[in-house]
Amino acid sequence: MTRFQNRTAIVTGAAQGIGAATATLLAAQGARVAVVDLQLDRAEVVARQIRETGGTAGAFACDVTDEAAVTEMTGRVADEFGGLDILVNNAGITRDNLLFKMSRGDWDSVLATNLTSVYLCCQAAQKYMVEARYGKIVSLSSRSALGARGQANYAAAKAGVQGLTATLAIELGPFNINVNAVAPGYISTAMTAATARRVGSTVEDHQDRAAQATPLRRVGQPGEVASVIAFLASDEASYVSGQTLYVNGGAR
Ligand code: NDP
Repeated sequence: MTRFQNRTAIVTGAAQGIGAATATLLAAQGARVAVVDLQLDRAEVVARQIRETGGTAGAFACDVTDEAAVTEMTGRVADEFGGLDILVNNAGITRDNLLFKMSRGDWDSVLATNLTSVYLCCQAAQKYMVEARYGKIVSLSSRSALGARGQANYAAAKAGVQGLTATLAIELGPFNINVNAVAPGYISTAMTAATARRVGSTVEDHQDRAAQATPLRRVGQPGEVASVIAFLASDEASYVSGQTLYVNGGAR
């Protein structure tokens, strides 16, 4: 499929979960994909799988909270793959706790990884996109942006992503750059499995409870978020900008 023919995409946090599914889907639809994650060997596993199925992908180690590393990685991707058309800000972490027990370190690291990283990556990427008068930025927010017990840090960061998205759409729109966010509900990944373990539940029980609270009566899969990200990164969504699209099985 040639939806993303001659397009270069960066997907952060792409060694697993939603990021890996997104990198794989964009590549299957023709994009040259930079699989970016903290550990090169884990990013390389996904990049190799993409290449083995006929796609174009490279692995890049980058801590997206590190400004110098983000600038260097973005430059290398643009040099090696020729420009930069699509940025998917997917890297994220949780460090849940009730406010009275939340450490300053856990507040800072969640804000840095889920929000400051989006600012850094967008700032680095816009240079190439503005020059080319073309760009698609999709960032991961969360249903938790609307409020979630034990997630003051994460909810604040993910709500921040929505404000940043709305603002960058205004600033970058004149350069033909679309900026949007997706806000998933409960998706079956290592992140939600870790949450289950933290609250003393099995993954299965945790998912069952989440499914019962969801109109579609099931949790989501990474591919179901990846397909929405791909839509927003495509020219089919050319007049959509500044939006946050909830991908949460119908929860209000
Ligand atoms: P995962 O934890 O499965 O994957 C996240 C990836 O990001 C990991 O490979 C992780 O590496 C990497 N990462 C973490 N910190 C950094 C960093 N500083 N620099 C580069 N990479 C980093 O997450 P999901 O796939 O579940 O979630 C992906 C995104 O979707 C996140 O932004 C998350 O907040 C959001 N989201 C997820 C939901 C869900 O239910 N799963 C719901 C709503 C939103 P490592 O493992 O080495 O730390």
